[in-house]
Amino acid sequence: MSNTGSKVISCPKCGHDNEIKLFKTVNATTDPQFREQLLSGELLSFTCSECGHTAELRYPLLYNDMKNRFMIYYIPDVDRDKLTDEALEKEYGSLEPITRRLVGSFNELKEKIHIFESGLDDRVIEVVKAALKDVVEKRTGEEVSGGYFSKYSASEDRIGFTFFVGDEGEQFVQTTRLEIYEKSAGVAKAAETEAESRSFRRVDRDWARNALYRYKKNK
Ligand SMILES: [Zn+2]
Repeated sequence: MSNTGSKVISCPKCGHDNEIKLFKTVNATTDPQFREQLLSGELLSFTCSECGHTAELRYPLLYNDMKNRFMIYYIPDVDRDKLTDEALEKEYGSLEPITRRLVGSFNELKEKIHIFESGLDDRVIEVVKAALKDVVEKRTGEEVSGGYFSKYSASEDRIGFTFFVGDEGEQFVQTTRLEIYEKSAGVAKAAETEAESRSFRRVDRDWARNALYRYKKNK
């Protein structure tokens, strides 16, 4: 079940008090409609009933996909690498194995959902993304500020990412063969430890850089 609450917030434009619905948890398995609304952005958007002003709502929520066995804690601008939530452990600790992730932005949340729903390992994805980022920087001669997983096709033997290139953040799609994903699995798995896997962890660009560094050092 999804868990909701409500809160009154004042419109930043006209000051009108609006009662809004807040989601503490979104359960994608029991409430697929909330998954849809989350991915479309509707669930985290605020529209003032008085003046029509719209804004993005930013508050912590837990995304739970029981079918694909992953949970993602979204905490806007979180500045830590992992988080252990005792209450959540009590509730879900027995339901192993479950992948637990911590993300600090709505875009990261959407990317993780996309990765796990595709049946992929986000650690391997981050390692491949880091390698392809270098490829794109060499090809374009410009700096890449970020990128996200955007394509997976077994029939075309392609996995791909959309990168943001240069000062304008122009979109650049770079794909590669699935073999590269398989080859990167060793790097990602070597970085895992048992203790880490029980808390909500960040797996992002910094994580991939560390994993690659440790892998090369131990070779
Ligand atoms: Zn308003």
